[in-house]
Amino acid sequence: MPISFELPEHVANQIGMTKMLAEQVMRSISRHYDEQEHERPWEYINVIWPFIQQIEKSDLRHSISKNGETASGPKKKRASTGMIRMIHMIEALSWGDAGLYLSTPSSALAGAAVNAVGTADQKERFLTRFTEGNPKWGAMAMTESQAGSDTSNIRTSATLDPDTKEWILNGEKIFVTNGSLAGRESPGIIVVWATLDRSIGRAGMRPFVVESGTPGMTVSKLEEKLGIRASDTATLYFDDCRIPYDNILGSPDVVKPDEQGGKGFKGAMKTFDASRPYVAAGAVGIARAAFEFTRDTLAAQGITIPESAPLHKLSAVQRDLMQMEMDLKAAWLLTIRSAALLDAGKPNNLEASMGKVKAGKAVNDITQKCVELLGPLGYSHEFLVEKWMRDAKINDIFEGTGQINTLIVARRILGYTRKELK
Ligand SMILES: Cc1cc2nc3c(=O)[nH]c(=O)nc-3n(C[C@H](O)[C@H](O)[C@H](O)COP(=O)(O)OP(=O)(O)OC[C@H]3O[C@@H](n4cnc5c(N)ncnc54)[C@H](O)[C@@H]3O)c2cc1C
Repeated sequence: MPISFELPEHVANQIGMTKMLAEQVMRSISRHYDEQEHERPWEYINVIWPFIQQIEKSDLRHSISKNGETASGPKKKRASTGMIRMIHMIEALSWGDAGLYLSTPSSALAGAAVNAVGTADQKERFLTRFTEGNPKWGAMAMTESQAGSDTSNIRTSATLDPDTKEWILNGEKIFVTNGSLAGRESPGIIVVWATLDRSIGRAGMRPFVVESGTPGMTVSKLEEKLGIRASDTATLYFDDCRIPYDNILGSPDVVKPDEQGGKGFKGAMKTFDASRPYVAAGAVGIARAAFEFTRDTLAAQGITIPESAPLHKLSAVQRDLMQMEMDLKAAWLLTIRSAALLDAGKPNNLEASMGKVKAGKAVNDITQKCVELLGPLGYSHEFLVEKWMRDAKINDIFEGTGQINTLIVARRILGYTRKELK
């Protein structure tokens, strides 16, 4: 599929504003919130929220009218640039500070799940709140202590109370990004993956929307982390947490026993197809921050890359700089491709995993190399390079580790099933 790198004017303007915010607001508070892990960065949150609200509004309008599905109006179709805009914004915000970016009030991964598998009515019901009022957060809770990469192993259960027609959730979810912000501090939502029947594995999995403050859901722990320390990561505990019947995402019909085959996990995969380009873009943003700082610092010491020198005339440091730039650009191009496919309504499962693997590896390689090349300057707290190296690691862990996404790419390319290659 041909990809145009031309951005519509309004998108280019939004990205320009994001870059300004990253430079002028995020960079100046980056170190503080890295050190004060659980303090909320309100000066950033309050500045970015009006901007995000506008974006949520236009995304919601587009999402409920997509493919002719509407909550209340006639069928409309128009080309989307939503993913491309999002990855540019995430890249710019993560260049500013990846932890602060993850604290951005928005529907986030909850929005990705509702958009991927929700009905038009559910999109309107759950996402309208992100277009109005005070800052709000969304979160997605899949991981459990025995179910990380192997999501089929989730134990959090959803049972239907036949009398009240409510779902009752029981279990514990760990490492939920924005779990405490969405769970108790705002009228946010958390998409919780639970099983209707553990004996059928992935086929029994379903996403449920739990609104913040729902009785039976508690935030039981806040993580202390190596990197992205400004980001809120929580454990959520569900003890007979009752939610309305209509909070199961997608049509309630999917729970009929004869319709269960694999549909639950397909919803998760559709969500990951949208969320993996986000993570890859965040990784590229951190990698670019470290690369630019290192390139400029070395240039001030007289080390630059000559325009047209043959390879054998370059120093080891010059070759390292070129390699970093190549990896950065390759990761960004793969990320753009995976986002452009989704905007065009085409499958991007392979490309989303490819971009995520490449960007996750590139950001770790680049930030470590930057610390190495800068020596004490790279290791010192005086500069942010050591922080970027810490912030890098998570990109190779969440939304599928590097190994898991490599497996997905290998299966797709070689034509193996999940059972044949694991
Ligand atoms: C800061 C942070 C934020 C997070 N945010 C969220 C969130 O918002 N929502 C959410 O649901 N989860 C979240 N997670 C959880 C994250 O998605 C999981 O940690 C991740 O999926 C890996 O699962 P695990 O930790 O159980 O590792 P495991 O699955 O136990 O894996 C351990 C190691 O083994 C490797 N491995 C496992 N299986 C294979 C295989 N078949 N082949 C080769 N290697 C393999 C893995 O790649 C990894 O290196 C977050 C995690 C962190 C640290």
